[in-house]
Amino acid sequence: REAKGKMPVYKGLESYKLVEKMGDGAFSNVYKAIDLRSGQKVAVKVVRKYELSASQAGEKHLNREFKKKPRVTERANILKEVQIMRGINHPAIVKLLAFFESQEHYFLVLELMEGGELFHQIVKLTYFSENLARHVIVQVAQGIRYLHEERGVVHRDIKPENLLFERIPIVPSKNPLPKQFDEDKEDEGEFIPGVGGGGIGKVKIADFGLSKVVWDEQTMTPCGTVGYTAPEIVKDERYSKSVDMWAMGCVLYTLLCGFPPFYDESINVLTEKVARGYYTFLSPWWDTISSEAKDLITHLLCVDPAQRFTIDEFLAHPWVHAASGPVPPTP
Ligand code: ADP
Ligand code: MG
Repeated sequence: REAKGKMPVYKGLESYKLVEKMGDGAFSNVYKAIDLRSGQKVAVKVVRKYELSASQAGEKHLNREFKKKPRVTERANILKEVQIMRGINHPAIVKLLAFFESQEHYFLVLELMEGGELFHQIVKLTYFSENLARHVIVQVAQGIRYLHEERGVVHRDIKPENLLFERIPIVPSKNPLPKQFDEDKEDEGEFIPGVGGGGIGKVKIADFGLSKVVWDEQTMTPCGTVGYTAPEIVKDERYSKSVDMWAMGCVLYTLLCGFPPFYDESINVLTEKVARGYYTFLSPWWDTISSEAKDLITHLLCVDPAQRFTIDEFLAHPWVHAASGPVPPTP
């Protein structure tokens, strides 16, 4: 998070006071802000209407993301993100409070998630205990279940950067295992649930920029005219929800050990590993993790989308229902 400095001034955003920058993407900046009319603290996602060149956009993300899909912020795209978010009302999904535009920007006023990205917490903690990981992933799963089963929406960009904590989690930890990627991380003591009224609290899904509606809300049938739809499209729609389940497998894997299931310096090798579904439960990091957790991951990181767990199968898995330790949700 950037130091509080001078905030930019956006024409058209006069009724909000920008407080600090919370995140940036290729085309968007997200700020903590105050709605000057109500005094409410919010997040404002400012999206530039014009495009950056692909190289400019890519460079910014090189150190954070393994691969950044080029993102075209056409009018239709941002309006789709807004339209999808407007139809959504669930405690595990970031709410859109308002939307407006100026000549140069779109402004999405969002429910403020003060705790920031799950990404940062993984970096800070190195990895989560099974109870903590369960507490996080079950909330994400409930959000996904709502999207898939009640709204016919596929998110398509589930990853730790798009999963946000409502409050800054109280997450001191003592790390008993060697760290794989970053030798310089500090040990921060054991997780103490509920200290100072804290704990890890609520986690919500953000960023509907790549999301898609796969079935018609009224008829509960696939979008578009079915009669003339090619088989690969019909199959595509049937399996599209499974992309979120794969991503949940990657998030759960990463939560439990602190590094992602698929990684390689070379993008070509990485792509091949993903295509084959080649990953391992690497020793010693996975030695102490339960076989139930591994079984669940195995059913999520399953190359054949027809075999992969659906959200209902995920929620019915024994690991999800294992006696969870004292990790109270933040009131
Ligand atoms: P992009 O499409 O550029 O990835 P996101 O919607 O994911 O845009 O927002 C970028 C980043 O801004 C997020 O990863 C997160 O760090 C931060 N952010 C987004 N929405 C919020 C919010 N409601 N509250 C706090 N931070 C947010
Ligand atoms: Mg994002």
